[in-house]
Amino acid sequence: MTKNSTSVAHKRVFLFAAAFNHFSGGASTLSAEARASMRDALGGKGAGLAEMTASGISVPPGLTIMTSVCREYYDSGKTLPPHLFDEVLAELADVETAVGRRLGDVADPLLLSVRSGAKFSMPGMMDTILNLGLNDATVEGLAAKLGERFALDSYRRFIQMFGNVVLELGKDEFEELLHEAKQSAGVETDAELAPDQLRALIASYKHLVRQRVGIDFPQDTHEQLRGAVEAVFRSWNNDRAIYYRNLNGIDHAIGTAVTVQAMVFGNLNERSGTGVCFTRNPSTGEPVLYGEYLLNAQGEDVVAGIRTPKPIARLAEEMPDSHAELLRTTAALEAAYFDVQDVEFTIESGRLYILQTRTGKRTAEAAVRIAVDLANEGVISRQTALTRVEPSQLNQLLLPSFAGEELAAAKMVGRHISTGLAASPGAAVGRIVFDPDEAAALGAAGEKVILVRIETCPDDIHGIVPAQGVVTARGGMTSHAAVVARGMGKPCVSGCEALKIDLAGQSFTVGGRVFRKDDVISINGSSGEIYAGAIPSTNIKLSQHFHTLLSWADDVRELGIRTNADTPDDAELARKFGAEGVGLCRTEHMFMSQERLPVVQKMILATNEGDRRAALAELLPLQRDDFAGIFRAMDGLPVTIRLLDPPLHEFLPKADKLKEEIAELRPLPGTAEAIAQKEALLLKIAELHESNPMMGLRGCRLGLLYPEINEMQVQAIFEAAIIVSSEGLTVLPEIMIPLVGVVEELQFAREVLERVAAETMRKGGVAVDYKFGTMIEVPRAALTADEIAAHAEFFSFGTNDLTQMTYGYSRDDAEGRFLQQYLDGVNVNGAKRKVLARNPFEVLDQGGVGKLMKIAVEGGRSTRPDLKIGICGEHGGEPSSIAFAGKVGLNYVSCSPYRVPVARLAAAQASISSTQERDK
Ligand code: PEP
Ligand code: MG
Repeated sequence: MTKNSTSVAHKRVFLFAAAFNHFSGGASTLSAEARASMRDALGGKGAGLAEMTASGISVPPGLTIMTSVCREYYDSGKTLPPHLFDEVLAELADVETAVGRRLGDVADPLLLSVRSGAKFSMPGMMDTILNLGLNDATVEGLAAKLGERFALDSYRRFIQMFGNVVLELGKDEFEELLHEAKQSAGVETDAELAPDQLRALIASYKHLVRQRVGIDFPQDTHEQLRGAVEAVFRSWNNDRAIYYRNLNGIDHAIGTAVTVQAMVFGNLNERSGTGVCFTRNPSTGEPVLYGEYLLNAQGEDVVAGIRTPKPIARLAEEMPDSHAELLRTTAALEAAYFDVQDVEFTIESGRLYILQTRTGKRTAEAAVRIAVDLANEGVISRQTALTRVEPSQLNQLLLPSFAGEELAAAKMVGRHISTGLAASPGAAVGRIVFDPDEAAALGAAGEKVILVRIETCPDDIHGIVPAQGVVTARGGMTSHAAVVARGMGKPCVSGCEALKIDLAGQSFTVGGRVFRKDDVISINGSSGEIYAGAIPSTNIKLSQHFHTLLSWADDVRELGIRTNADTPDDAELARKFGAEGVGLCRTEHMFMSQERLPVVQKMILATNEGDRRAALAELLPLQRDDFAGIFRAMDGLPVTIRLLDPPLHEFLPKADKLKEEIAELRPLPGTAEAIAQKEALLLKIAELHESNPMMGLRGCRLGLLYPEINEMQVQAIFEAAIIVSSEGLTVLPEIMIPLVGVVEELQFAREVLERVAAETMRKGGVAVDYKFGTMIEVPRAALTADEIAAHAEFFSFGTNDLTQMTYGYSRDDAEGRFLQQYLDGVNVNGAKRKVLARNPFEVLDQGGVGKLMKIAVEGGRSTRPDLKIGICGEHGGEPSSIAFAGKVGLNYVSCSPYRVPVARLAAAQASISSTQERDK
């Protein structure tokens, strides 16, 4: 058998032992193909151990029986291939030489672990045997070296594992004997059994084997090894493993490798120990070795938490040589795998062994720092660095979050109240307030409040604005509260149905506990959790690494990133986060503030055009100021302003509330006029009532029936543009018409608006460069995009409405009614089955809504090749939807300010993966 070659194709058993290096080069010199073929042949674990050994890293020596043997085993009706065991023993001899112990040696026995390891990790699905090599004689040799108690306990564990895995006895039968032994010894834990009691237990285990299998427990260590290897191959096809492969789409034919490895002991003496470390700090990313260890201990002791481990830096004092070697080794591992490693190690009598290495899990802050540092150190490319951070992880960095320890403490003492939907991320603390008016008053007085509602509606906006956060008992991820809160970057937990809210009693009950107005709660909109009392939170801190990573993202991304912003503050914030313009300004949000609503209501109540125009004239300067603020914030960048969209009833109070107010006023003197006003509102509410308001008088239909509304808005836009451009700034307005379904809607609206724009510019004596376009949010608009593009210079996909209308699911009601059940699974002949894999209001449905988008892009550009196209629904900030937007050739995505960095990174990743696909 040739050694010193990287080829493993002709072999069945592969040795890994530093003294007998089979590779000509280290792991980091392997090509991706070579790595992949190693994994095919040796399984993930075997390949990792071989690579580490080849890189000069100290791992306990061993051998791997290749996956091809497993296939042969099954092909030949479950028999081990002839002479395989001779090959195993031949390689084992080298393992024995490398370790300096022999299997079955009575004085100084080599103990082995026998483990499975397929190409794909199947954690815990197949069988493992530890401490192989113990028998009645070797256990005494081990006792002399490691102590009697330890040796006997290892032996009884080995009999139990071997009995269960190889001899196929039930685990329970051994457990029962163990339980009896503890009972008769009067102790609680295994560790308290004394050597004599362990000897008696071993005897009863052996008796059980004889009785149930009809053989003596194998004392021949080669027989033990042969049995263990075969058992691991058998376990490839146990029920758990088959189930797991079905679940994860793993091929049943690939088979598992078996790794037989020398066991090392961290509990041999005071110059031994064991620990776990990360090559960089996994919570901050700081490039220092981070972790903990215990001297004279086994891995189990670190995990069990019985003894408190010491920080890794202490090892430099206690065992300087081992510490130095650990530093060198872990650095080599990181270099070989091009990423932070999470490493398990054992030191046996001053000699360091690496037992396992894998990619280290990390926080968002660490992920960003590590990616940038590794690229700057030349370990990975900038492109690879960009793929190392999950875009949605960035959310964690942009919003305050609860301090880790304080949060853990709150959980420990039972302060968790309930969990709803994580509707808008971030952490907030405040007093419970149920009434939006009260929230507004307290907020104005500088109080921190959390607005708790059954659900919110546009009426409540004045209470949402000053609140620290919002909780609702009803409504999903695209409910009013969720959308509004996300837009404002305010934490929101929605749909927390466990809260039984009693608005009249100003309290809510949950799990038998009552929370009242003014009680303090803490909410985590990133996880949906609600806690009693205040949990301190940490503030946003954007590191230099964060900015660096995003600047690299900007270098590679092809999609533009804009923001959905309705106020100058939002626009400014989004620009700081890197937005390249406003993709959607929902002008109706400018109508919602407390002082403006009465004017809007006056406009709605007007019975003739003259009165309506008078009310609109009052609104005009207010809108003009808002637009001017946004134009200033976006100097030099485009600002897409959408004309009024929602049904008018959204600006009116709820009928029930009005009736209550009228009833309260009636007995009071001098209230006739106020009552008359409210009664007029009531009448109007009845008049505007629609069964399906989402498909009713809204969007462009409003503007066509009441053109004066659009005229006022366009006048305000152009007056603002004239003011701001006269300040020397560059203004690029884009006027957008919502909910178009037939081309005439757009054509007629445009004719009116062009006239008003021209008049306003003429009056102001300034020409403003502007564009005119439409939203595509009705399926018919997508299907007739070629006609529509004749009148539009840009399209923006309103995927909230487009999803609503494509599925026929109401975006306001679906989640509370059936969508959650569709996602969780419905009962089909007694089995729970999911109707939908993902919520289409969160993750763009590429198969349906996406198809309409493709048709619209093709249709639109067939008429107008330079048509600019974006997306401004909630999907504009969701990474997989952003990738899709790139694929279908959109020019930009637009999302709420806090999602702008997420979108920048997601767009970069989309460009990288499409380049890779093209290069294939
Ligand atoms: C949309 O429908 O996707 C959209 C952006 O408009 P709105 O959510 O305001 O209806
Ligand atoms: Mg819409």
